[in-house]
Amino acid sequence: MAAHTVYKEPAPIMDRENPLESMMSRFNIAAEILGLDDETYNVLKAPDKQVIVNLPVTMDDGKLRVFEGYRVIHNTILGPSKGGIRYDKHVHLDEVKALAAWMTWKCAVVDIPYGGAKGGIICDPTTMSPGELERLTRAYTLALKDVFGPDRDIPAPDMGTGPREMAWLMDEFSKTVGATSPAVVTGKPLVMGGSLGRTEATGRGVMVSTLAALGKLGLKPTEVSAAVQGFGNVGSWAAKLLFDKGLKIKAVSDISGAYWNDNGINIDEAIAYKNAHSGRLEGFSGASTMDADDLLTCDVDVLVPAAVEDVITEHNARDIKAKLIVEGANGPTSASADPIINEKGIMVVPDILANSGGVTVSYFEWVQNRQGFKWTEEMVTERADRIMADAFEKVYQTSQKYKIPMRIAAYVVSIDKVAQTYKFRGGF
Ligand code: GLU
Repeated sequence: MAAHTVYKEPAPIMDRENPLESMMSRFNIAAEILGLDDETYNVLKAPDKQVIVNLPVTMDDGKLRVFEGYRVIHNTILGPSKGGIRYDKHVHLDEVKALAAWMTWKCAVVDIPYGGAKGGIICDPTTMSPGELERLTRAYTLALKDVFGPDRDIPAPDMGTGPREMAWLMDEFSKTVGATSPAVVTGKPLVMGGSLGRTEATGRGVMVSTLAALGKLGLKPTEVSAAVQGFGNVGSWAAKLLFDKGLKIKAVSDISGAYWNDNGINIDEAIAYKNAHSGRLEGFSGASTMDADDLLTCDVDVLVPAAVEDVITEHNARDIKAKLIVEGANGPTSASADPIINEKGIMVVPDILANSGGVTVSYFEWVQNRQGFKWTEEMVTERADRIMADAFEKVYQTSQKYKIPMRIAAYVVSIDKVAQTYKFRGGF
C-alpha cells in the first residue's frame, strides 16, 4: 500500500462539531418553518430519559475494569423507543443524545410506530476478546433491564456491535424476565428470530433512495459514477446493490485506506477480498490506492458517506464534485457544511431518510417476533422498498412545497408527525 494512504481515526468529540448542536440547528430551522409551538418545542429539544451505567467486567487477565455505558431515550410519543447500541472508544453522551434524537426523526420519517433511543459503551471492541465482550454486553443488559423491553425500548446493532451482541443481550434479558423474549432486540442472528433481509437492509435503503434521487435529477443509474466511504455493513451493501444496478463505483474506502479505479471497481470481487482478508481491503488489486481524504472530493456523480459522523465539513464541502450525496452514516455532514452544499445545488438525501432501511426492517423483525411468524425475504424487501420509496417521495414533495433542502424537509415531515401526535394525545 502506498505510504500516503493513512487512515485517520475520527477526532475525539471535542475537536469536532458537536453532533448534538448539529442536530439541534437543523431541528430549529424545521421547527421555525412548521411554526412549532413553544410547548412542543421544549418537550422535543431534550431527551425524555438519560441513563448512565457503570459496568464492572472481569477481563481475561483476571483484573476488573469498569466501563461507562449510556442509554438515551429521546422520545416515546409514537411508540416504544428504538435504536442501536454503539461500542467505540469515542462514544460521548452528547453524541448518543444526538443519535437518539435522529432515531426519533428517522422512525417518524418512514412512518413506523417507534420513538427514538440510542445506547453506547466507551470501549474499544477491536482490542477485546469475545469473552470480554460477552461479559460487557451482559453487564450492560442487566444494568438496563428495567429500561429495555419489547413494549418499552428495543435496542439493535450500531457501530461495533452486530448479531452476536444482540444474541447475548436477548439471552440475558430473557433470563431476567424468565421467558424467551425475542422482541426485546432486533438485528439478531437468523436462527433465533432475526429477519431475512435485516443484514443488507440499511444498504438496500441507501440504494433505493439513491435511485429515487437519480430519477428526480434525470440521471440514469447506468450512466452514473459513485464513491462510497466506509466498507462495513452499510457501505459494502450499498456499494454492492448500487453496483448491481449498473452504477460505476469508482472509489471505496475502509479503515485501511481508500481505493480508486476509473473504470469502476468490481464490488463483488472487493467484498470477496475483504471477507478473505480479516474484513479489510488492504492489498486489493482491483483498484489503486488514493488519499483517504480525497475520496470525498473525487470526481464522481454520487457520494455515499457510510462511515462516521462529521466527515463533510465547512473545510471540504466547497471541493465536493458530486451532484448527489446519499448519507448512509448517521450525521456525516456537519451543520456548518449545509449552506455550502445548498449553495452548490448538491442534492442531499439526509441520514434520517437514506439510512432508515435498517430500522424499517428492524421493525419487521419485531413484528415477526410478536406474530411468531417468519416472513419470506420477498415480503421483507418488497415492503421495505415501498416504505423507503414512499418516504423519499414525501420528503421530496415537502422540499418542493416549502422550497427547502431535502434535509430540512425530512425534519419537517418527522417533527410534524410527532407534534401532531402530541396534539391528539395531549396529557401534559
Ligand atoms: N443503528 C441503526 C440505525 O442507526 C439501526 C437501529 C435499529 O434498527 O433499531 O439506524
